[in-house]
Amino acid sequence: MLGLMQEWPLLCQRIIDHAAICHPDREVVTRSVEGPIHRTNYGQIRRRALKVAQRLDRDSIVLGDRVATLAWNTWRHLEIWYGIMGIGAVCHTINPRLFPEQIAWIINHARDRVIFADITFVPLLEKLAPQLEVIERFVILTDRSNMPVTSLRGAIAYEDWIDSVDGDFAWKLFDENTAAGLCYTSGTTGNPKGVLYSHRSNVLHSLMTAQADVLGLSCNDTVLPVVPLFHANSWGLAFHAPMVGSKIVFPGAKLDGASVYELLWDEKVTFTAGVPTVWLMLQQYMESNSLRLPALRDLTIGGAAPPPAMIEAFERMGICARQGWGMTEMGPVGSIGSLKPPFADLTGAEKIAQLSSQGFSPFLVEMKITDESGEKLPHDGKAYGRLKVRGPSVAKAYYGLNDEILDKEGYFDTGDVATIDEHAYMRITDRSKDVIKSGGEWISSIEVENAAIAHPSVQEAAAIAVSHPKWGERPLLIVQLNPNMETTRADILSFLEGKIAKWWMPDDVVMDSIPHTATGKIRKSELRERYRNHLLPSASVRPATVK
Ligand code: AMP
Repeated sequence: MLGLMQEWPLLCQRIIDHAAICHPDREVVTRSVEGPIHRTNYGQIRRRALKVAQRLDRDSIVLGDRVATLAWNTWRHLEIWYGIMGIGAVCHTINPRLFPEQIAWIINHARDRVIFADITFVPLLEKLAPQLEVIERFVILTDRSNMPVTSLRGAIAYEDWIDSVDGDFAWKLFDENTAAGLCYTSGTTGNPKGVLYSHRSNVLHSLMTAQADVLGLSCNDTVLPVVPLFHANSWGLAFHAPMVGSKIVFPGAKLDGASVYELLWDEKVTFTAGVPTVWLMLQQYMESNSLRLPALRDLTIGGAAPPPAMIEAFERMGICARQGWGMTEMGPVGSIGSLKPPFADLTGAEKIAQLSSQGFSPFLVEMKITDESGEKLPHDGKAYGRLKVRGPSVAKAYYGLNDEILDKEGYFDTGDVATIDEHAYMRITDRSKDVIKSGGEWISSIEVENAAIAHPSVQEAAAIAVSHPKWGERPLLIVQLNPNMETTRADILSFLEGKIAKWWMPDDVVMDSIPHTATGKIRKSELRERYRNHLLPSASVRPATVK
């Protein structure tokens, strides 16, 4: 027997409708790419999103067509986001930090018909234009007075483009499983893979993140998404904030410590989220200027493991820094490091240790860890294995690929290695391809790095595997020092003593710059390549090539 409740497809456009009805005056503030601060609200965002939809419809963009954005976090990007989805087209957010040839590749792979780009990216698109096979229209996100002279065929200023319609338009209605967004993962090897979100997965993901112990925003919050709309579905914030009526503050193109601090302070931001590299800039700026942010209740760090030293530094400044873990394939939130009752009253080092966990999964995400043969491992905080997940906002396939990516129980292998303890707190020890295997046992590169970052001279650290004639692999620690700081190999090694297991001690330490991926992760493949022939002092012969 079926229930007798209404059929009401979970469509993304209903979120902006709701925001415009219940929170029409709630502000959306942007540091515009052109420079000045811009202010609008949900009522206007919806009105202009409808114009985007109407104009796309007039340009014969139909259900399932892909429409790309190459843009910073701004109010215009939000309008386009809802305008595209509201006619059942697919909003393909492109990460501009990818290599140019990867950008051209994914535009062609997605077969994007229209692209919306910030003025910043016009020169990049001009270079790529001869390779772009299917783009019919370049819409530049600015008005006529700021429109650059460009060789892009038929390029038009966004404000002129939407002013050609009157907004007298209604969203289209379609099945909730219709594709809504497309986001390519920035793998370090091979071509990027497209994750295709549906309207249903986005709405459910937003309801999931709205749980109090997840992001838990409310209409009284002011949210600054440092995480870009083009990184992993904006961590859901472009849906969650309007769904509950939070004020949004978009940082545009300026993500340095001073610019982000200024917005956090001026707009009395209560919640913000981004990757550790951005928070490092904010931390340094605040520390060196003795600054505080009394309104900020929550700074969520995700995308890569934040060192406990960073969490502690924010804690000292009165800011609760929590971790979020997830991935593009998950919509993307998978866990949040909120403190449960046994831990909520912790203070000092114990609190930092608990906040350094990647947290527990919310309702709608199920997790397990397995050994290499797929056997489940216990949740005892000790056994570590491959982390696998399932749920209604987890991918079941990649766009345009036929590969089977789920196991027999429907779980997706995240590629991360983790422990889960008896309280359901999960800790990532590594990416499976980054683990260091010494004498058959795994060394957690993240724990070695976290210990090293606590050293006052160290800005960032990366532990990688280097071949060793006796142990197979041993850790090499690469450290990037804080500006104007000096230290020695011996000093770092003695600092690590007692902080990590003896056999995890790096066999060597070098000072070098640390490269990052387009989504702010340490590019370990490049470091492994750089130190392929590094001779460890503990190795009596020059090591063989490391894969
Ligand atoms: P992306 O799809 O770019 O969001 O990357 C997802 C990957 O980033 C995950 O599989 C993890 O390896 C890594 N990641 C994300 N958040 C965290 C975190 N809090 N701690 C450690 N690794 C993380």
